[in-house]
Amino acid sequence: VSFGYEDVTREEKTARVGGVFTSVASRYDLMNDAMSAGMHRLWKDRFVRRVQPRGGEQILDMAGGTGDIAFRLAKSGASVTVADINPSMLEVGIERAAERGIDGLVWTEANAETLQFPDRFFDAYTIAFGIRNVTDIPAALREAHRVLKRGGRFFCLEFSTVTWPGFADVYDAYSHHLVPRLGNLLAGDADSYRYLIESIRRFPDMPTFERMIGEAGFVRTRVEPIMGGLVAIHSGWRI
Ligand code: SAM
Repeated sequence: VSFGYEDVTREEKTARVGGVFTSVASRYDLMNDAMSAGMHRLWKDRFVRRVQPRGGEQILDMAGGTGDIAFRLAKSGASVTVADINPSMLEVGIERAAERGIDGLVWTEANAETLQFPDRFFDAYTIAFGIRNVTDIPAALREAHRVLKRGGRFFCLEFSTVTWPGFADVYDAYSHHLVPRLGNLLAGDADSYRYLIESIRRFPDMPTFERMIGEAGFVRTRVEPIMGGLVAIHSGWRI
């Protein structure tokens, strides 16, 4: 499998992704604002509107990191479980929740490929900017399907492939030159940001990823591109 520009074993990729997020955890929220010029907040707002969380629902926010999606979901009164493979990211999230006075979230360490939750437990599964870091994506999608109830919904927010011609060039230049520099300047860590950009470039395009969601058993799959596919919301239903 690939890690940035290198080929590595599966175990090595999982370990290195762990290293990246341990390294960026304390600066993670600041960097999101800096690198997306605050736009990630609007994408996350739109994403959670699509999920339409409701009071009483059980929702799993996978790769939930420092809680951005979970905090938004929890406003509905839904019971939200935040799962992430990286304890440093979860720690930052738990602190942020305490600062904001948000309680009732469940925080748990988990690998998206092998979930400890029972079959058909959740009403919705969300994963934002997480799936491209997972080593075995088909396994994670199958697990998402397994833990959802019948009628449960899957939503994924992820960087995708820019399809607006002029914008693709600008974005390429920005991501390959400016992002590692910003990473160096703001977090003292250019390599982690090089990995993050390369992982975006290697992620399957919108139709391919939509097909993969279907292959995991989901139906009525959909993709909603945002900003010409810079980011995309993929969704599907378990029946
Ligand atoms: N969802 C949050 C957000 O939108 O701000 C965090 C996104 S962050 C870019 C990606 C997260 O994916 C990290 O917290 C990382 O630890 C987590 N991650 C990477 N591989 C994972 C895996 N196999 N299972 C669960 N989480 C994983």
